[in-house]
Amino acid sequence: MRLILLGPPGAGKGTQAKRLEERYGVVQIATGDMLRAEVKSGSAIGREAKAIMERGELVPDSILIGMLAARVQAPDVQKGFILDGFPRTVPQAQALDGMLAEKALPLDQVIELKVDDAALVERIAGRFTCAKCGEGYHDRFKAPKVGGVCDVCGSTDFTRRADDRAETVAARLEAYHRQTAPLLPHYAAQGKLQQVDGMAEMDEVTRQLAALLDRKPV
Ligand code: AMP
Repeated sequence: MRLILLGPPGAGKGTQAKRLEERYGVVQIATGDMLRAEVKSGSAIGREAKAIMERGELVPDSILIGMLAARVQAPDVQKGFILDGFPRTVPQAQALDGMLAEKALPLDQVIELKVDDAALVERIAGRFTCAKCGEGYHDRFKAPKVGGVCDVCGSTDFTRRADDRAETVAARLEAYHRQTAPLLPHYAAQGKLQQVDGMAEMDEVTRQLAALLDRKPV
C-alpha cells in the first residue's frame, strides 16, 4: 500500500495514519514529526525550520524533498507507506512523482480528509500528547480517563505543540489553502483522488478509509 493522506492541519491525518499503520503493517511517514525531531536535536535543518514552523509557514521545498528522498530509500518503506503531511506543495508532489517512478513504486491512492475550517481551530487548539509514548489527547474530545495520567503508559508528562496556538493555526490554514489545496486537482488528474468525511467520528473515519483501501489489494 502506498497512500497519501491529504487535508488541512487538524483534519485527523496523524491519528488515522497511526491506525492504518497498525491495521495494514505499513509505515507512517509524517514530515511534521521528522521536522520536530530535527528541531529537538538542534541539527542544521532543525535550526532553519524552527522559526518557520512557529510562524505556521511551510519549510522550503528543497529541505522537505531531500528528507523524503532519504526516507524512501529505507528498507521498511519498500513494503508500503502512508504519507502524512507530505507533499504540501505542487513542487513537492512533482518531486515525489519522480522519486516513485524511478523506483517503480507507484502510488495506489490519495485520500482527502474533508473538514470544515471552522471546526479545525477548536480541534487543534485543544490537543496534547503524552511526552513518553506519544498517545494523542484532546481537552474536549479525548481527555485521559484519569486526569493527568496517560491511558496507555501511565506517564504524567504531556506536551503541546508550539504551533498549535490559535494565532498560529490561522497561518497554517492559510498555507494549506494557498499552497496545499492545489494538490487536489494534481492527483484528481491522475485519477487517484478520493475523499472521506473527516468530520465524522474517529472510528467512522477509519471505517471509511478502510473501505476505500480494501477495494484494492494491499
Ligand atoms: P504537521 O505536523 O504536518 O502539522 O507539520 C508541522 C509544520 O511542519 C508545518 O506547519 C510546516 O511548518 C512544517 N512541515 C511539515 N511538513 C511539511 C512539508 N511537507 N512542507 C513544508 N513544511 C512542512
